[in-house]
Amino acid sequence: MLYEEKFTENCPQCGDALAIHFKYTKLIKCHSCKSTIFLEDDSVKLIGKSAVLSPEPSLIQLHKAFKFQKKRFTPLGKIRYSYGRGFWEEWFLQDENGKPFWLSIDEGDFVLEEKINFSLPFKKNREFKVGQYLNDYQITEIGEGVCVGFEGELPEAIKLNETHQYVHLSRGNGELLTLEFAENETMTFKGQWIDPLAIEVL
Ligand SMILES: [Zn+2]
Repeated sequence: MLYEEKFTENCPQCGDALAIHFKYTKLIKCHSCKSTIFLEDDSVKLIGKSAVLSPEPSLIQLHKAFKFQKKRFTPLGKIRYSYGRGFWEEWFLQDENGKPFWLSIDEGDFVLEEKINFSLPFKKNREFKVGQYLNDYQITEIGEGVCVGFEGELPEAIKLNETHQYVHLSRGNGELLTLEFAENETMTFKGQWIDPLAIEVL
């Protein structure tokens, strides 16, 4: 059984139907008028228009399912972060059971992760240094980017122009933990580096 449940609301700006694929979607872009709409409990709220992201050639496309390790994932949204000379993208995916995942694509590097509940004793990444160990994970990268836009639907509200800092912690077998720091929150993701050649677009 594939998870194909859909919820429909109407765009408060143009009235067109908004097909919502993920149960807990908070933010969606209207495909007709490109308005950004915040979904809250039973209400829909217009936030405004946001820039349409310039399309970039990508293996991953919105609503085009792919297979990885015998699991089927559907990309429902993406967030683009700029780090000055370039950008990376975080794709919001749903698996066939309706479970959310994130695929981060930074040039040729693909990381598939899921959000985990893990509270940190730190508020900012300035406490971290590359090379430092936290249990059996080693900090391998620290960086930051500015959120420049999104497409599709997202399980959480994002703030444009907000700076996100991230810390990658690695251990053997391509396993990865990512700590993400925004203005008012910290999130933790757990996953692995994946080989893009192992992705089969359906
Ligand atoms: Zn609209």
